[in-house]
Amino acid sequence: MKDVEYCFKGENRFYWEVMSLRVFISADIEGVAGVVHREHTAREGREHDRARMLMTGEVNACIEGALMAGATEVVVNDSHGTMRNLIPEAMHPEAEYITGSPKMLAMMEGIAAGFDAAIFLGYHARMGNDGILNHTFHGGVIQNIKINHRDMGEIGLNACIAGVFGVPVVLVTGCQHAANEALEFMPMIETAVVKQTINRQTAKHASPQKAKNLIKQKTVEALSRLREMSPVVVQGPFRVEVTYLHSGLADAAGILPIVERVNPTTHRFETDDFVAAYRYIRSLITIAGALS
Ligand SMILES: [Zn+2]
Repeated sequence: MKDVEYCFKGENRFYWEVMSLRVFISADIEGVAGVVHREHTAREGREHDRARMLMTGEVNACIEGALMAGATEVVVNDSHGTMRNLIPEAMHPEAEYITGSPKMLAMMEGIAAGFDAAIFLGYHARMGNDGILNHTFHGGVIQNIKINHRDMGEIGLNACIAGVFGVPVVLVTGCQHAANEALEFMPMIETAVVKQTINRQTAKHASPQKAKNLIKQKTVEALSRLREMSPVVVQGPFRVEVTYLHSGLADAAGILPIVERVNPTTHRFETDDFVAAYRYIRSLITIAGALS
């Protein structure tokens, strides 16, 4: 898309520039206001279509905010489960969106050098943390993922993928625990807390309209502070430890030659390439998930 004249408010001043602003949105569903249960998140769930509508509404609010902030291109990647959740006929007309699977980069499919900002919408805390519907990629497979001894959930891992491509994460939306997990990793970003986790399957929500208003407002704020944000620095070598819920999952995934088994439920491998690490993790989960 062509460059446009772009205005943003700095400290008591307006700056005018000619620039393009390309925004990538990775959209999950567990952190969307109104969503608390597998009936919302699973394809066969009785309330799944309602949750898809809520998710699409929040995505559209984010797109609106991005456009208000001067975005010249917005790409949304559907990042949950089947990756066919966004409702095409309800999508904001100005964004392109990626649906379907398999995808090489899963939740981060479509990210590339040249995007100026990434937004994680409807995200959730990692398995082992508090937070509504917390899990890491596959709730039936993964107990924990550590990279260079640091616990990593979807927020951290996906932020590192964005970092590989030089793209800063500017906003994470979800419950308060997802927001805190994101801020621990990236203290400068904006967060939009659209619900308060009470326990793993219970939350106190903003109404859909309030949640959408907040997301739109925070998207504008995050993009107007873009110059303060920097990509996560991703420097290898990476020592990756994947711990499964039980030993049978490690038995199944152990077919992947790169891994070494360090205890009954944990595999370890090393690589200098973060994208390769991410793809190995996804591969281990896919193999083990066939058993779960
Ligand atoms: Zn999800």
